Amino acid sequence: MIDLKSIVSYLDAEYPALSAESWDNIGLLVGDLSATVGMIMTCLTVTPEVCEESVAKKVDLIVSHHPFPFQAIKQITSQTVEGSLLLRLISHGIAVYSPHTAHDSAKDGVNQQLAAILELTDVAPLNANGSGRIGNCKRSGTLLSDLLRIIERRLGACSYVGDTDKPVNRMAIGCGAADDFVDEAAKQGADGLLLGEARFHTCLRAQSLRLALILPGHFASERFAVETLAQKIAARFPEIPCFASNSERDVIKRSNHSVDN
Ligand SMILES: [Zn+2]
Repeated sequence: MIDLKSIVSYLDAEYPALSAESWDNIGLLVGDLSATVGMIMTCLTVTPEVCEESVAKKVDLIVSHHPFPFQAIKQITSQTVEGSLLLRLISHGIAVYSPHTAHDSAKDGVNQQLAAILELTDVAPLNANGSGRIGNCKRSGTLLSDLLRIIERRLGACSYVGDTDKPVNRMAIGCGAADDFVDEAAKQGADGLLLGEARFHTCLRAQSLRLALILPGHFASERFAVETLAQKIAARFPEIPCFASNSERDVIKRSNHSVDN
């Protein structure tokens, strides 16, 4: 067993509040700092399924990429889904820690890992606050289709904007929902931008800037990093098991049914 306090200190140092976005809600969000931890589970989001998995597996600490709770709340009752989940977690002594945008921007965080998947070189933050990434494609003559193949292989099928036979030399990255990265990416000379998801009008804007978009989906753009986060915590605290949730699925499904008219 390890003190929750020690694990929180470690995570706070790795994912400091200063590197999170100002609107975010990160750190220890549920929990008794005097408690001890014998098992840790990481996840992307605390859903009812994830909550039940943590109870069934006798987890003491959930490290959830997305904050739970996120918004300020005035009641914790069984009349809301959020309240029910909080009551269930608290009654089982399960703490929740969230690194969210500090994890996105960290030196080994989600966006840096996406840059590594795309084999980018000279990788730097896209914005002055350290968020996003931009770098150069390793091979000259890389086409959008080459990058799409890499992402499909590693993260699954994705949507895209642009011509597949167009060269992409400089590529920017923003996991999750980062529509506002489009203009900055174009300004810094990117030919392509990977976003978890993008609104239709963001796609039109990118098209008008001749900026290709790769859109693997919010879930796929971040979920893989929950696995690496579990490995990292397990390496730091080898005395206790730490694993990624295996009940989490993307809520957005892709149709593969043919439609008869
Ligand atoms: Zn996200």
